[in-house]
Amino acid sequence: MVSSVAIVGAGISGLSLARELKTRGYQITLFDKGRSMGGRLANRRVQFNGEAYLFEHGMTLLPKQFKNYEIIRYSIQNGTFVDFKGQVAYMRKDQLVLMDSSDDLTSAHKMTDVLKVFYDPSMTLHTEVQINQLIYKDDKWYVASMLDLLPQAEQKDQEDLIFGPFDSVFITIPPKQQAPLLFNTHPEYAKFVLSIKASPMWVGMLIFDQKIDLPFDHCRFENSSFPFRMMIRENAKPNRSFSKDTWTIQMSFDWSCQNLEKTQDVAILEILEAFKAYYEHITQKTFQAQALYAQAHRWRYAHFDEHEVYPHFRYDPELKLGICGDFLSGSHFIDIVLSSALLAQEL
Ligand SMILES: Cc1cc2nc3c(=O)[nH]c(=O)nc-3n(C[C@H](O)[C@H](O)[C@H](O)COP(=O)(O)OP(=O)(O)OC[C@H]3O[C@@H](n4cnc5c(N)ncnc54)[C@H](O)[C@@H]3O)c2cc1C
Repeated sequence: MVSSVAIVGAGISGLSLARELKTRGYQITLFDKGRSMGGRLANRRVQFNGEAYLFEHGMTLLPKQFKNYEIIRYSIQNGTFVDFKGQVAYMRKDQLVLMDSSDDLTSAHKMTDVLKVFYDPSMTLHTEVQINQLIYKDDKWYVASMLDLLPQAEQKDQEDLIFGPFDSVFITIPPKQQAPLLFNTHPEYAKFVLSIKASPMWVGMLIFDQKIDLPFDHCRFENSSFPFRMMIRENAKPNRSFSKDTWTIQMSFDWSCQNLEKTQDVAILEILEAFKAYYEHITQKTFQAQALYAQAHRWRYAHFDEHEVYPHFRYDPELKLGICGDFLSGSHFIDIVLSSALLAQEL
């Protein structure tokens, strides 16, 4: 009989695990609380003055060094990933260093296209279902969205939902969110996931009325006193002929931590001010541009302390319960994919 698997979370971890298990003949059911799959591989479409803009406010680039891995090679061949052709720079100890060429891949259209490589329509995907309870009964698993465990605002018009039975269950959501699912089912894993430290990140999304003449399209900040982690001109990516200059600004972990509880409105004003100050520092000119669109997004669990502990997942063969995610594998796309493959082998 085909073995059935429930996977909670349809980000890269959940989807790459689903793909691995599917090729091994398992019957897959995925659950995600979001409106669509992808998790932190996310984008935001903005309609502005009759034109469609796209911000990649989650994962945005991939190092070319991974191009020989099957999934990346395949995604290059089918045109999903292409070279990033924009001007790349580093801010190293407040020194701007311009690079000759980019070592990054980006998406030909949008990063989320890569999800199509993982997702197979024969899998069942439930979106907008927040799983908040796991039930283990008679050697079978049930996953449930119980309304009394959800904050009132999230209860909407839903009913209690219970799915199952499944032969095994995998949780691929960020660690703090995993803990409530594990308290009763696997206290040791619950304790472990609670020990993992997360860093948040604010991301600013900006459309300007004129071109920002910074000498680069993409800049990473290393040991810099500026409060940024990365900034990228979205319209320097391929097939993005936006008529206005469009920037995604990732703030540093320190800044994001200090400003974590600010409202989105306050955060975006401060991000804009920091961007202006940075522009004036680099160009020695007064910032003249007007932001026509400005929004901030807060990732509460953006990155995790790297875990060097092998294996990059946990699996309990007796209970047939597994946990994985970038908090165990490392946050590079390819690390996640490889650790899913190893977890699938473990089964
Ligand atoms: C701003 C930013 C930029 C980044 N840039 C890059 C980059 O350029 N290159 C790179 O390689 N990596 C990058 N990363 C890291 C990369 O995006 C992540 O490592 C990766 O997306 C994590 O995938 P995941 O599946 O482990 O987790 P997630 O993407 O967080 O997926 C978890 C999923 O679980 C769902 N979920 C959560 N709780 C529940 C619940 N109770 N019930 C049901 N569903 C639930 C969520 O909706 C989500 O879809 C970036 C991350 C951020 C935040």
